[in-house]
Amino acid sequence: MTDEMYDLIIVGGGMVGAALACAAADAGMRICILEAREPQRSWPLDEVDLRVSALTRASQRMLENLQVWSRMSEMRISPYTHMEVWDAEGSGRIHFSAAEIGEPDLGHIVENRVTQLALWERLETLPNVRLCFPASVAALQLEPLPGVVLQGGEQITGKLIVAADGRDSQMREMADIGTKGWDYDQHAIVATVKPARHHQQTARQRFMPRGPLALLPIDDGRCSIVWSTSPNQANELMALSDALFCDQLTLASEAILGEMVEVGPRGLFPLRLGHAQTYCRPGFVLVGDAAHAMHPLAGQGVNLGFMDAMTLADVIIEAHAAGRAIGSMVTLRRYERARKGPNLAMLAAMDAFKRIFSNDLMPLKLMRNLGLDLANRSGIVKHQLIRRAMGMSGELPPLAR
Ligand SMILES: Cc1cc2nc3c(=O)[nH]c(=O)nc-3n(C[C@H](O)[C@H](O)[C@H](O)COP(=O)(O)OP(=O)(O)OC[C@H]3O[C@@H](n4cnc5c(N)ncnc54)[C@H](O)[C@@H]3O)c2cc1C
Repeated sequence: MTDEMYDLIIVGGGMVGAALACAAADAGMRICILEAREPQRSWPLDEVDLRVSALTRASQRMLENLQVWSRMSEMRISPYTHMEVWDAEGSGRIHFSAAEIGEPDLGHIVENRVTQLALWERLETLPNVRLCFPASVAALQLEPLPGVVLQGGEQITGKLIVAADGRDSQMREMADIGTKGWDYDQHAIVATVKPARHHQQTARQRFMPRGPLALLPIDDGRCSIVWSTSPNQANELMALSDALFCDQLTLASEAILGEMVEVGPRGLFPLRLGHAQTYCRPGFVLVGDAAHAMHPLAGQGVNLGFMDAMTLADVIIEAHAAGRAIGSMVTLRRYERARKGPNLAMLAAMDAFKRIFSNDLMPLKLMRNLGLDLANRSGIVKHQLIRRAMGMSGELPPLAR
């Protein structure tokens, strides 16, 4: 393929950028993906990566439609059939089960590298896709034609440039698109741990005043943890020996799975809320974390990113088929209108959750505990919450149905 022939130039071949590339390539578009790092190709069978995501049913359907779910199952996907959320500062507790709504599971915990590799392997079979790595963009131009110049001088032009380069998007900055947001004043520690008792395919989250602790079930009985807490406590926990870290984790989890007996390497992520002021410019568009970054407490980040990617794919495939410009503001505004509202609603909900549960005020404590108990007892509210957590509520793009 020569330089001028691309329909899409996607900067960032992570989970969201690669999913978009698959969908658009399946519709016959010519794609160039520019990725800073080659994805990991192999790893020891018993090693669980630090970065995992809880994937919703909507994301699963999308990955099935993109023909990569079975490959992901071969590598490792861990279904969870129950979910339990409780407040450390009271008796409020809510419990969901897949059986309540007649589903086989509530979702799957999947290592990010599994999802990314399955998508890359599929992309490598498609003749209309060029995967460029390691690639680094030196300059962005939007006029007269959208294009980028790589470090090293190669110039690549296309009809539309998609920034899928994550929370600290360099492309968003180059396109001069600002973000609104703030630091959460929490860091998340991630690790794989082995508890004394089996998790019974239950995803658990305990809300503590300094931040939530999530215990996500892996199919071999271990758990992947996301422990969000104040930066000071996070640094202290990171400095502990494995044995002392396990002791602290046993306490923080109320020993719900017995003692924590083993912990692997730990990673630390400062948490920030960020929302791009606009999702598009002529010939340029943002998807995934480049457009919105949120607290991981409800595990929604990449699920929303996938819905961005599928909505954008739907809009540009339709424009392409009708001979309309895929990079025009008329086309891109349709995508922005469809996604900005749901993304903003989720950002606001996660922010409110974080504030309500990180607060020591007695009336708020009583209210949130009462809220959890009432929701747990109300069949209708509970079913709606389950469907929302599974990504099955609201308008879904065709590729996620
Ligand atoms: C602790 C934690 C737990 C989380 N848990 C969940 C969860 O359970 N469920 C969920 O849905 N979400 C979760 N998330 C959020 C989720 O990880 C992100 O939403 C998701 O990774 C975003 O995907 P993305 O493809 O948009 O960006 P990224 O995953 O950041 O990928 C961006 C890609 O672009 C590449 N790149 C970056 N800059 C450049 C450049 N200049 N040029 C070329 N390539 C570039 C990177 O190498 C990378 O491959 C969690 C986040 C954290 C921090």
